[in-house]
Amino acid sequence: MNTCCCIVGGGPAGMMLGLLLARAGVEVVVLEKHADFLRDFRGDTIHPSTLELMHELGILEDFLKRPHQEVREAGGQIGQDFVKLVDFSHLPTHCRFLAFMPQWEFLDFISEHGARYPNFKVKTQTEVIDLLEDEGRIVGVKATTPDGPIEIRADLVVGADGRHSIVRERAGLEIENLGAPMDVLWFRLSRRTEDFYGVLGRIVSGRIMVMLNRQDYYQCGFIIRKGGIEQVKHRGLESFRQEIAAMVPFMGDRVGELKNWEDIKLLTVVVDRLRKWYRPGLLCIGDAAHAMSPIGGVGINLAIQDAVAAANILAERLSRGTATMVDLQRVQLRRDFPTRMTQGMQVFLQHQVIERVLGSNQQISLPWPLRLFNRWPFLRRIPARVIGIGFRAEHVKTVSREQ
Ligand SMILES: Cc1cc2nc3c(=O)[nH]c(=O)nc-3n(C[C@H](O)[C@H](O)[C@H](O)COP(=O)(O)OP(=O)(O)OC[C@H]3O[C@@H](n4cnc5c(N)ncnc54)[C@H](O)[C@@H]3O)c2cc1C
Repeated sequence: MNTCCCIVGGGPAGMMLGLLLARAGVEVVVLEKHADFLRDFRGDTIHPSTLELMHELGILEDFLKRPHQEVREAGGQIGQDFVKLVDFSHLPTHCRFLAFMPQWEFLDFISEHGARYPNFKVKTQTEVIDLLEDEGRIVGVKATTPDGPIEIRADLVVGADGRHSIVRERAGLEIENLGAPMDVLWFRLSRRTEDFYGVLGRIVSGRIMVMLNRQDYYQCGFIIRKGGIEQVKHRGLESFRQEIAAMVPFMGDRVGELKNWEDIKLLTVVVDRLRKWYRPGLLCIGDAAHAMSPIGGVGINLAIQDAVAAANILAERLSRGTATMVDLQRVQLRRDFPTRMTQGMQVFLQHQVIERVLGSNQQISLPWPLRLFNRWPFLRRIPARVIGIGFRAEHVKTVSREQ
């Protein structure tokens, strides 16, 4: 098979780039190893900046018909005190809220819209296992499918295959590991109508938990020390249930919904980035270029913003021929700054907050800088901007070639 652009990975970065390139007239194939987009929880946050892109593409109204919840402000409980930290209602975007939408709904929606373009193909159950190289240039990929192995040759291969990217590994791109002191245990607990509303993080002595309100259930993330899963398991499931109930007393009557360890998924937190995102014939974007810490829930946003920047810079080039090293370098130059800023902030918070809380059993009270958020509500606009839009907002500049 020959194509102009072969994208490895049908996650937020790969699907968005595929849609934008196809819309601009470039022939694209997205290869996804799974059979569909239905999979474990991997974050459901659709940021105001992504909703703005939907508006720019003229598909926002359709998008908001999909099941979602809108969150306009968010806060947390630290010790005994509650603090509202984020207020999206002043953002300079059409949607002044963050939408919670299951990731498969989002990917399905993008795939459906991409299907309008005959030059957009998604090949599921196609797992890339290697790259094809010719005189130092990446010229395609090798993949396995239910019908046997295939080779796909392309002018450009894009690695959008996430934080365990085979593309970046096979391309030999150098990874800079920034480290993370924690892992996260994700699980669901039911929500009742009388439960309070809000996206909530709870920090008490020695423990941190986030609870995302998903209408009839809470998606909970329990932060543990890096590599601490075996200790948690050793203490036993009942002890884990009690820890949750001690942190969030109103959950005490439903922690029994965690029947076995299968109900609890481990996210091994990694924060890293590639020194160079490209090689001749190859570019990495999204988590494949920079795995993010879950702090702030911004990984999806950055992945999508990378896709938009890549499409803006490469679409015209690809439709006229092939992207040069200078073009690929421009994509990294454009996205390096927001990546470094966001990771820098995450690493700072990992050391200053997460590490300190997990490493101590002392009572916690609201630090004075956070007290200011309760006194001066306008401060809540700052984290709203960083989370909702990011450090460098991308806009769709590619032109639709739709007839
Ligand atoms: C448990 C968990 C919770 C998270 N919570 C949040 C959150 O609340 N908010 C947020 O913004 N981010 C969150 N994240 C991070 C977020 O999921 C990622 O940052 C984001 O999905 C990155 O998008 P991506 O397209 O770069 O990669 P991915 O979403 O990882 O997509 C990569 C795709 O490539 C496919 N693939 C992998 N290898 C191959 C191969 N060899 N061949 C073909 N296909 C392949 C995968 O199946 C996948 O579909 C969370 C992540 C996890 C794991």
